Amino acid sequence: MLLSINPSNAKIVAKHKPYTKLYTQSIVQQVDTAWSKWRLTSHQERSELLLSMAKKLVDSKNKLAELMGTEMGKPIKQGIAEIEKCAAVCEYYYQNAAGFLQEQDIKTDGSKSYVSFQPIGVVLAVMPWNFPFWQVFRFLAPALAAGNCGLLKHASNVMGCALAIEDIVKQAGFPDNVFRALLLDSASVNDVIANPLVKALTLTGSTNAGKKVAEKAGSLLKKTVLELGGSDAYIVLEDADLEHAAETCVNSRLINAGQSCIAAKRFVVVERIEKEFTRLFVEKMKAKVMGDPMVEGTDVGPMARADLRDELHEQVDHSVTKGAKCLLGGYVPEGKNAFYPPTVLTNVKKGMPAYDEELFGPVAAIISAKDEADAIRIANDSVFGLGGAVFTQDKERGELIAATQMEAGSCFVNGLVKSDPRLPFGGIKESGYGRELGMFGIHEFVNIKSVWIA
Ligand code: NAP
Repeated sequence: MLLSINPSNAKIVAKHKPYTKLYTQSIVQQVDTAWSKWRLTSHQERSELLLSMAKKLVDSKNKLAELMGTEMGKPIKQGIAEIEKCAAVCEYYYQNAAGFLQEQDIKTDGSKSYVSFQPIGVVLAVMPWNFPFWQVFRFLAPALAAGNCGLLKHASNVMGCALAIEDIVKQAGFPDNVFRALLLDSASVNDVIANPLVKALTLTGSTNAGKKVAEKAGSLLKKTVLELGGSDAYIVLEDADLEHAAETCVNSRLINAGQSCIAAKRFVVVERIEKEFTRLFVEKMKAKVMGDPMVEGTDVGPMARADLRDELHEQVDHSVTKGAKCLLGGYVPEGKNAFYPPTVLTNVKKGMPAYDEELFGPVAAIISAKDEADAIRIANDSVFGLGGAVFTQDKERGELIAATQMEAGSCFVNGLVKSDPRLPFGGIKESGYGRELGMFGIHEFVNIKSVWIA
C-alpha cells in the first residue's frame, strides 16, 4: 500500500493500492497513443491549454495547498505560493515556448539548412514530496509545450497530489492521456524505464535515487535529467550588511521546514563578523513560529515524515558528538508527529555530518572561515554543487565570486537562491546534470534535428 500519513498527527490520510504491472503497461500504451496525435498539435493549441491550466491552478489554490498541508505538512501560506508559481510556469511557457522551439536557420552548402526541435515522445518523471506540485509542473509545462507526453511516478507519501495534478490537466482541457499519474512504489520504476514506449526520464530527488535510475536508463541509452541533493553554502563576508544577510539566510534555511534542495544549509562566515552574524541569526531563527501547517501564522510546519526527522536528528547528534555546539533546538519534540525545531549548530568542522552531508530539515550549520579565499574553499568543499550565495556590499566582488569561484549551478549575490521560470535550474557534481526551466529546460527533451536540403 502507498500510505499518506499526516505528519502533524501521524494519522493515515489515504491508502492507495499500487497499480499492477499489467495496468501500468496499459497506461504507458495509452499515453503513447495520445502522443501520436499530441505531437502534431500546433504551438497555439498547446499554449492555450497551458494558459487554461494556469487558471485552473489559481482557482484551486486553497484546496491544493490544504492537500499538501495534510499529506506532507507544508504551511498553508507556502502551499498557496507554490500553486501560484506552478501557474506562473504554465504562463511562462504559454508566452515563450513557440519562440524557444522556432526553427533556426543555419547557412551551409545546402540551399536551405536549419535546426528543428521535434518532440521525443513519452517522458517519465520521478518526483519528490517536498514541492509536490512545483517539481512536477516545472517538468510538465515545457514537456507538454514541446509536444511530449508525461508519466508521473510521484513520491509514495503524496499520491493524493499526483492524482490532483492528473485532474488539473484534465480540467484544463488537454486531450485524454497526454499526462497520467502512476501509483507505484520506487521498486517498480525500473519496469517503466524499460518499457520501449518510454523515451526519457527526469528525476528530482536524492543523489542515491538519481544514480539508481540513471544506471538503468543508461543501460538502455535513454536520456536522463537529474535534479538531486544539495548542501548550498552561503558565504558571508566581512563587508556584508549583516542584518540583511542573517534575515535572508534564515528565510532560506527554513522554507518548507528546511526541506528544499536549494535551501541554504551551510553558512560560511568570515571570523571577523562571525560573532555578530551568529547572534542575529539565532535571534531570527528563534522568532520563527513552528506549529500547525493549516494555521496562517505558521512559519515552520512538521517535516514530511517521522523517519526523515529521526534521520536528521541523528545527523545533529552525531555532529554534536564530534564537537559541534548546538545553540538552538536540536531535540525531538514529544508526541506522535514529525516536528523538528529550528536548530543552529556552530563550530562545525569537516568530518561532521553537518559539514559533509545534506541536512534536509531546519538545521543550520555555521562554519568559520579565516577570509574570503578560505570561505570559497570551504563552500566548494562538498560533493554537491546545486546553488550558493555570497553576501557583501561590494557587488563587483560578489559577482566575481558568484560567477567564477563558486562550484554550483546557480549562484546569487545578496539574495536567496530560488528557482525562476526564466532562469535555467540544475546542478553540477553530485547534484545532478541537465537543466530545467527557461529555454535550456525545454530543449532537454526534444530531438534537436538538423535538416539540410540540396
Ligand atoms: P528520494 O527518496 O530520492 O525520492 C524521490 C523520488 O524518487 C520518489 O518518487 C521516490 O519514490 C523515488 N525513488 C527513490 N528511490 C528510488 C529508486 N531506487 N529507484 C527509483 N525511484 C526511486 O528523495 P526525497 O527524500 O523524496 O527528496 C529529498 C531529496 O531530493 C533531497 O536530497 C533533495 O535535495 C532532493 N531534491 C532535489 C531537487 C533539485 O531540484 N535538485 C529538488 C527537490 C528535492 P518513493 O517515494 O516511492 O520512494
